[in-house]
Amino acid sequence: MRKTKLICLVAVSCLIGNGSLALATASASTLRAGFSKKDITFFASGRGMMGYGDLAQKTRGIESRLFARTAVLETSGTERLAITVVDLCFVVSLLKDAVLKKLDLAQPGSWSSANLMILATHTHSGPGGIAQHDIYNVTSQGFDTKNFETIASGIAASVLEATERLVPAQMKLGLGELRGASINRSLEPYHANPDAKLYADETDPTHTVLGFVSREGRPLGLVDFFAVHNTSMSKHNRLISGDNKGWAARKVEESFGRDFVAAFGNANEGDASPNIFKGSSDEKDLEDLEKTLRVAAKQAKHALELWQQAVPVEIDSLKSRHRWVEMPRFACEPAMGESFAAGADDGPSGIPGFFEGMRQGELRPLPQYGAPLVAAVRAIVGSSRGDEKCQYPKPILFAGDARHPRILPRTLPFQVFAIGPVLIVAAPAELTTMSGRRIREAVLSQAASISASHVVIAGLANDYSGYVSTPEEYAFQHYEGAHTLYGPKTFDVHLATFLDLAQSLRVAGLEDVEDLAPLYFRPLGNFLYPTKVDGKAPWERVGKFLRQPPPSSSRGDELSFVVRSGLPSRFRDQGSIFVLEKKRSTGWVRHELPSLTQIEWSREKIPLCFNCSRLELRMPSSGLGSGEYRVLQRGLWQPLVGSARSYQSESRAFSIAK
Ligand SMILES: [Zn+2]
Repeated sequence: MRKTKLICLVAVSCLIGNGSLALATASASTLRAGFSKKDITFFASGRGMMGYGDLAQKTRGIESRLFARTAVLETSGTERLAITVVDLCFVVSLLKDAVLKKLDLAQPGSWSSANLMILATHTHSGPGGIAQHDIYNVTSQGFDTKNFETIASGIAASVLEATERLVPAQMKLGLGELRGASINRSLEPYHANPDAKLYADETDPTHTVLGFVSREGRPLGLVDFFAVHNTSMSKHNRLISGDNKGWAARKVEESFGRDFVAAFGNANEGDASPNIFKGSSDEKDLEDLEKTLRVAAKQAKHALELWQQAVPVEIDSLKSRHRWVEMPRFACEPAMGESFAAGADDGPSGIPGFFEGMRQGELRPLPQYGAPLVAAVRAIVGSSRGDEKCQYPKPILFAGDARHPRILPRTLPFQVFAIGPVLIVAAPAELTTMSGRRIREAVLSQAASISASHVVIAGLANDYSGYVSTPEEYAFQHYEGAHTLYGPKTFDVHLATFLDLAQSLRVAGLEDVEDLAPLYFRPLGNFLYPTKVDGKAPWERVGKFLRQPPPSSSRGDELSFVVRSGLPSRFRDQGSIFVLEKKRSTGWVRHELPSLTQIEWSREKIPLCFNCSRLELRMPSSGLGSGEYRVLQRGLWQPLVGSARSYQSESRAFSIAK
């Protein structure tokens, strides 16, 4: 990593023109691009899922795998940028730091916090426990080292592979507006913004596609930005899923074929919900997955249209700017308001006594039985009482400060990328529709001076600090306002910092302010997942197939397999748990599991069977093609005495008719 020296000592205004990294300038047509996609799924049964804050939401299986998708761009041999989009609820600085350490071992001096941008899709259907700050690890009962390491390794591998795949390339820019794929879930605060009248839409329909083809015309990949919560899968879901962004990416990748990578990032989605079914019979009639696929299909279809219409853009320079900002120096110490515990309109927590809009000085019916619970959690996570004057009108639930650094982030990373005429503004938070619009318009007003013609808002970038609501929205203390951590000035600090960073693009060869990077500490560990003994009935063997499909099936049938398995606490993805093989003239050959394959784990209570696990594989036969197949199940078995041993079992062969 690059070591840098400049320190900004006074105020946000002093940031103008000094905290930035070296930029690359190259002549036209030197752009090279490379893409990669790596699996980051960590499936261990019973892990707390991250997003809805529901302690009961624990992983039971896999609906779709989670990936890190990376685009690496280069305009000369030494100047590179990487954008990685990960199927996670959020990214944290601790994770990016771990990725950078791995990259530095493989490619010393190539990557820094400035030229690597990691964006989360905001799926709420992945395992948690990867946060630096303990409040965000509560639902996963602490930090999960295995999950964290799986994700960090996957991201680093995707960056390295994308670098290896760099080829001379052409960028093309697709700009458009997508309607009907999101609704505003927090309308009262939104309409309190005086500038809401200037817009016909209550969410931001801006849709941007950065497409890349090789100089020979081979499609390489795309990076997509559209604002919508990645929460079509509800809090009742127990299967790991990339949700609507993950499925949109998969649909686009399938339409291009092998090796094409479609990274679907998010934008100013803070108040943008995917619940487009609200008020219709579909809202309760449709399953989560059907809702997910419909919202995904809208994004994928429009992305492909933008790809078709995209205009070639010559990239003669790549620039990056990055800055750490200690937020309490310009706003308040971080705190969550009481309405945070109510959850958002499209994912209410249901905790009695908490609702959106709880404000200081007004009736706050925090029930008596809730107060001791809050006090206990405050004590466990090390919360301060906070500064309600600074945070007015937010009534404080949890708070951090310099003496209580473990609970919430105080120092945030801000970043901009300039890719030719495209400026990507990367916020370490969830910007609301109007926060994003205001920042985009303000930065765009300076665009001419920095040779940019298009500004893209990228949310959930590099770290997580809750929401950024406008001051008008903050006053309402809905969920988004209650989760705007640094008080009513949070938005102003974001705006000023991004304007500074954009301005600094006029100057070449500046340095990053690494000295202000936060001190990392070890989050509270997870002690609730001890190794468990695996069990089976005396007459069973390990890995026994308890259910298999008939010897012959028609295309379109669902194939179902049930196996007496070990506890899935050590697996990564479908491909390492269940392997599908097809019979060829040369023997059995591995075959890709089809779309819509699901794996679900559960405990089974039968006589003489203690700690019995069963794993179910559900697989549509459509898309497999006719022929003879079999399924292998691989796992680890932990006996009562001794260490775990690996096992593999086979289903009987079955055929799919023409
Ligand atoms: Zn959110």
